[in-house]
Amino acid sequence: MRLSRYFLPVLKENPAEAQIVSHRLMLRAGMIKQQAAGIYSWLPLGFKVLKRIEQIVHEEQIRAGHIPLLMPTLQPADLWRESGRYDDYGQEMLRIKDRHDRDMLYGPTNEEMITDIFRAHVSSYKELPLTLYHIQWKFRDEVRPRFGVMRGREFYMKDGYSFDLTREDALHAYNRHMVSYLRTYERMGLTAIPMRAASGPIGGDNTHEFLVLAQTGESEVFYDAKVPELKLGDREVDYDDRDAVAAICDEFTTLYARTDETHDEAVFNEIPEERRCVGRGIEVGQIFYFGTKYSEAMGATVSTPDGTRVPVEMGSHGIGVSRLLGALIEANHDDKGIIWPEGVTPFHCGIVNLKQGDAATDSACNALYKALTEKGLEPLYDDREERAGAKFATMDLIGLPWRITVGPRGLGNGVVELTSRRSGESEEMSLEAAVARVAEIYANH
Ligand code: ATP
Ligand code: MG
Repeated sequence: MRLSRYFLPVLKENPAEAQIVSHRLMLRAGMIKQQAAGIYSWLPLGFKVLKRIEQIVHEEQIRAGHIPLLMPTLQPADLWRESGRYDDYGQEMLRIKDRHDRDMLYGPTNEEMITDIFRAHVSSYKELPLTLYHIQWKFRDEVRPRFGVMRGREFYMKDGYSFDLTREDALHAYNRHMVSYLRTYERMGLTAIPMRAASGPIGGDNTHEFLVLAQTGESEVFYDAKVPELKLGDREVDYDDRDAVAAICDEFTTLYARTDETHDEAVFNEIPEERRCVGRGIEVGQIFYFGTKYSEAMGATVSTPDGTRVPVEMGSHGIGVSRLLGALIEANHDDKGIIWPEGVTPFHCGIVNLKQGDAATDSACNALYKALTEKGLEPLYDDREERAGAKFATMDLIGLPWRITVGPRGLGNGVVELTSRRSGESEEMSLEAAVARVAEIYANH
């Protein structure tokens, strides 16, 4: 993309309404525009990152054997009357009447609808296990929408629903979700810690939240200092191997890590003092095993091998896709702007032309652009008639992890400059070497 033809409405001033750095930077970098409290338009740069995150979530869900579908945002109230949640949900639910005076709602979550789909089409244990998920907009009329996309009213969520015959099978689905989530966050360059959580209004006896450590997080968290060091890395996971999947879950959940809701001071105090950490975290996902709560209420049963019928065992598992943009920026920024991890960056690399209109620099930038594109990379070329300082400031603000700077002096010596946004370090090399280096960096992303 050439910046002169793109739509990147960056702000020079710090927006007064933004209380935390991620919200401020998303507004300044022209990623979002607020349309009403907690409701945003996703401008091109923000939309691109949202899609990158969504893509990673899809890939890891599909890898775990989970199946994508798409349910609507608007739902009939009658489904929620069956489960009893139409009255229970309270003011967070946005209720709407259609022209025929029928009660509708903008879905805050989809347990009822997915159970309705299940009962219409599945009746035998032979069709299990089954996990269906979608990535769809949700609406919750939060009392205090704030922090930009972190606590919106309209937000984008991946929600998956597992169906199994037995509790044991359902716990394997739970574990599969935990491991697939760990992989998902790691690919984004994030450390998200599974913490034992309280079950809340959805009900259920097994639940973990995934928290990204950040001073601006809304949850208070208590954990062993060794927990954030745990990594999946590039180990292969066989999602059908129950013991292997359970062993990974044990590895990540045995050491102490809890939110204030489940915190137990006495157990916490058994950790050696120098490892006891108290901090704050952003909830970027949650997994639940809740058994037959919805299947019983809504008559979703399956036949068993011995010919009887039982309510299906269920779990629901969510990732805050739009909240992740905020969490990623909280965890990756400096005083100049955002620093995107390679896994989610909107463009792979920036190209800065120090002397726009100069035949030699223009043609080198065009060659660079073409070579990067041919490697399957997406560069953002700042081809505006702007001072170098302004071009650098824009690149630093929007946070592309790599920048190639092309100027007449360097070209005279046959080199361009490759700069890392994270370390700030620059290295001179030939144009071809710069292309090869950037391609190599992204080979694993
Ligand atoms: P919270 O405790 O932050 O209100 P929740 O526990 O009610 O969230 P879940 O029902 O677990 O939310 O939804 C799954 C994920 O969706 C959460 O882990 C979070 O990342 C995201 N999420 C929930 N509410 C919002 C919101 N208002 N804005 C953006 N993301 C949200
Ligand atoms: Mg939650």
